[in-house]
Amino acid sequence: MDSPRVGVFVCHCGANINGFVDCEAVKEFASKLDGVVYAETYPFYCSDPGQKIIKKAIEDYKLNRIVVAACTPKIHEPTFRTCIAEAGLSPYYLEFVNIREQDSFVHMDDVDKATKKAMELVAGGVERAKRLEDIPQKVVEVDKSCLIIGAGIAGIQAALDLGDQGYKVYLLDKDESIGGRMAQLAKTFPTDDCAL
Ligand code: SF4
Repeated sequence: MDSPRVGVFVCHCGANINGFVDCEAVKEFASKLDGVVYAETYPFYCSDPGQKIIKKAIEDYKLNRIVVAACTPKIHEPTFRTCIAEAGLSPYYLEFVNIREQDSFVHMDDVDKATKKAMELVAGGVERAKRLEDIPQKVVEVDKSCLIIGAGIAGIQAALDLGDQGYKVYLLDKDESIGGRMAQLAKTFPTDDCAL
């Protein structure tokens, strides 16, 4: 594994983070951590200018592991995976640290403690980032086939619909014949047709 050159990007999220966490102090702290070669802060890293800054830093400082300290990964982890991939890194060399929902949002009454917590979260993120490994991606052909369990009227209809869409369908039932409850009916309302 190549030796880690970690870049740490501490997002203000406007005042959402920076109003309750001293982002500058977190950046200073991060810049002294083992393996970190670059750290900075910015108001909105998910913006186009913010992403450009990350890409430029990757190039300028030859960063190979990225820590973004920002919001919940649910929102923007994919954004930053794409961002670093566009800069030539594996998208899996990203560690996302949540200092908003898990810190600034819940510790608005104590900036010192929120800042200290952000530092600890970032330190953990840097250690994880140093251990990240690439996940090779490959495209594999898949069979267009499906298994339907239960050959009652719903299962039969699903099999017909999927068959029409080009899927090979395996229809499975615990009984010897298909039809389920419908097969037990002599006639159906309102046409009095045979159930099957
Ligand atoms: S990356 Fe997240 S924390 Fe940063 S500005 Fe965007 S939404 Fe806010």
